[in-house]
Amino acid sequence: MDEGIKRIVIAGAGQAGATVAFGLRRGGFGGEIALVGDEVHLPYERPQLSKEMLRPESAGHRSIRTRAEFNEQRIELVLGRRVVAVDVERHQIQLDDGRGLAFDRLVLAGGVSPRQLPGGPHDAAAVRYLRTVEDASGLCADLETGGHVAIVGGGVIGLEVAAAARARGCEVTVIEAADRLMSRSVDDTVSRFLDRAHRGKGVDIRYRVLVTELRDGRYLELSDGSTVAADTVLVGIGVTPNIAGFDALGITDAAGVRVDAYGQTALQGIFATGDIASQKNENGFGRIETWANAQDHALNVARNLLGERVAYESPVWFWSDQGTTNLQVVGNATRGRRIVRGDERGEAFSVFWLGEGDRVTGCASVNMPKDMALARRWVKQGNRVDPHQLAEPGTPLRNCAL
Ligand code: FAD
Ligand code: NDP
Repeated sequence: MDEGIKRIVIAGAGQAGATVAFGLRRGGFGGEIALVGDEVHLPYERPQLSKEMLRPESAGHRSIRTRAEFNEQRIELVLGRRVVAVDVERHQIQLDDGRGLAFDRLVLAGGVSPRQLPGGPHDAAAVRYLRTVEDASGLCADLETGGHVAIVGGGVIGLEVAAAARARGCEVTVIEAADRLMSRSVDDTVSRFLDRAHRGKGVDIRYRVLVTELRDGRYLELSDGSTVAADTVLVGIGVTPNIAGFDALGITDAAGVRVDAYGQTALQGIFATGDIASQKNENGFGRIETWANAQDHALNVARNLLGERVAYESPVWFWSDQGTTNLQVVGNATRGRRIVRGDERGEAFSVFWLGEGDRVTGCASVNMPKDMALARRWVKQGNRVDPHQLAEPGTPLRNCAL
């Protein structure tokens, strides 16, 4: 490693930021590390917010590491402070209290924020989003009160919350702009399953409609003229990158902070990782908003900071727990030759996607975690399979590889 690197500052104390910090220590970095975050909490992982934290017996949130562990590893925590600017010439960031912090290397790991419901301003107290511990606690209290929960957006947040709310006895309506659920990451087969599973639990789902008005904090008017009762409105319509403060640096694009395969921005010594990073993909550049990316990309950035030159190559993978449904997706599960393994009208099946030469390029598994374990390996290694065997559930999956 370059001996001149004495101090690394990480802007954003979430999952990716904390992972870079501990990754640097594990890799032998002996200099100073400062982790700056605008939340007051120790870094925590967000999947618990839409799952464990919405259960009635929830005992609050878990942190990634204890304060003692940060101290032991000599990782300085600057919490409750926002990075508002970067002075590239002077190698310094500026905090919202006016303080400057010097760096030799800077990692931008500020994540994303929920996209706001269009057509506002709305009564802020009546509209909830889900990104922080405070958001989850507030929503959990609403679910305890019961009544009608209107969920805007049939993506991962919307569907995980719909399942949690129904489990607690709330009436639930999901309002989705598109004509099917989770349309960005899964195909019709899986969308149809999700529709069936949520309706089966009593969720009302409305497609091809937008919210036009929130009335008295008690009901929503929709673009088709209908209304939906809403004691609680939960909005999950995607996210925008937290790039305020960095957009003058010339390193951002429409998706976030653009990085190369090593996590490096166009500015020497400035890296980005986690949700905020705009990474190269098959369509150009875009964010990868998953737990696995916040973990693995961040560790890769740590290695590159330590002087290795390792390109990040890992297929996208995420899971979503929606009540009793475990959905997992790897690679691109919307494009190629589609092979369904199992009964797509049943409770458990996998949809494999094959590219040229019958290489596995993606898979979505519904309540089939064992299929996913192999699918992840195949997508990563570019394995070829026999499509006919694959479609035959009687053939053990491992025997389908060529
Ligand atoms: P974050 O964890 O959001 O951390 C960024 C931190 O930086 C935040 O604390 C932010 O406040 C702070 N920050 C922002 N700007 C600044 C600034 N200028 N100065 C200082 N601090 C700043 N993924 C899955 O694969 N499976 C799941 O089941 C799953 N469930 C999820 C459930 C919910 C409710 C949410 C919201 C996400 C879920 N995810 C899931 C996605 C996963 O949690 C994210 O991809 C991951 O948190 C990204 O980590 P990050 O460190 O990039 O961002
Ligand atoms: P998503 O992008 O997953 O889903 C948003 C959904 O809302 C899309 O179906 C979108 O349709 C729809 N939509 C957009 N605008 C409107 C509108 N005005 N009215 C109604 N529907 C609309 O985002 P989420 O908000 O669900 O998730 C936010 C973040 O949380 C992401 O970073 C995600 O990765 C993370 N997360 C991940 C989880 C997981 O992986 N298990 C669980 C929970 C959160 P269209 O695509 O047509 O725009």
